[in-house]
Amino acid sequence: MTHPLAIITGGAQGIGRATVELLLDEGWRVAALDRDPEAVAELDADYPEATLLAVVVDVSDELQVKEAFQHLTDWQQENDQSTGVDLLVNNAGLADPVCGPIEDLALADWRRWQESHLTGAFLCTRAAVPGLRQRRGAIVNIASTRALQSEPHCESYAAAKGGLLSMTHALAVSLGPEIRVNAICPGWIETGPWQKTSQRSEPEHRDIDRNQHPAGRVGQPADVAATIAFLASDKAGFITGQHISVDGGMTRKMIYAE
Ligand code: NAD
Repeated sequence: MTHPLAIITGGAQGIGRATVELLLDEGWRVAALDRDPEAVAELDADYPEATLLAVVVDVSDELQVKEAFQHLTDWQQENDQSTGVDLLVNNAGLADPVCGPIEDLALADWRRWQESHLTGAFLCTRAAVPGLRQRRGAIVNIASTRALQSEPHCESYAAAKGGLLSMTHALAVSLGPEIRVNAICPGWIETGPWQKTSQRSEPEHRDIDRNQHPAGRVGQPADVAATIAFLASDKAGFITGQHISVDGGMTRKMIYAE
């Protein structure tokens, strides 16, 4: 039996880890690429080698990405899987949106956000496209509602996420009809329970946190994971080049000062 194969970057914690778990539950084979060795080791210990490949890799490093994809090919052969890729989720990146006032932002710090989100997505997409073409697969880029609206001092993150949205429609036009490419803009997604053991937390949300969402709650990684699974499925076969906000309605709420 051929199992679909997904590559999830940043798959060892947070939204990425929840996506890994959902897809494994649904019968996928998954390769999780993440730069945190402790988190990767914990994920690796939880699943059999034949269903999950967990690799320590910084997706913004060209050589490391090349080696990780070679590792993936070897793993597919060793586990009697046919070649090809059904889904790439470009999720990895520096999740902290605040870079501080623009006057004080060092070029090296500006680059850290661009490298992890944008360069990482470029390198992984380039490496995955031949396999995705083979299986008529899909790409899902994890952007942010901060690509669409802002708080102060988030320029580097907002620019990286805006770049991902533009890359999404550009890729959809270049890679169709074989490969569909979409993006998700998560809002506030609580990832505390989805961190590696040493950093795990159980958040307590206040009424004001919940009530500012038209959906009445803060988001969970599973909300994003379910949307990824939908966009990867045949049910989304006529959707490409789009972005979907998974934000409990926050970006649709008009705010007037009281
Ligand atoms: P997280 O920090 O919980 O998990 C991110 C994972 O990516 C970590 O395991 C980390 O080690 C890995 N990672 C980071 N940089 C990497 C790199 N260069 N190479 C390989 N792995 C790398 O973050 P999260 O909240 O789950 O965020 C996942 C994605 O969703 C990010 O792109 C983030 O910007 C986006 N997002 C999150 C939220 C939210 O509220 N949580 C909202 C909007 C967008």
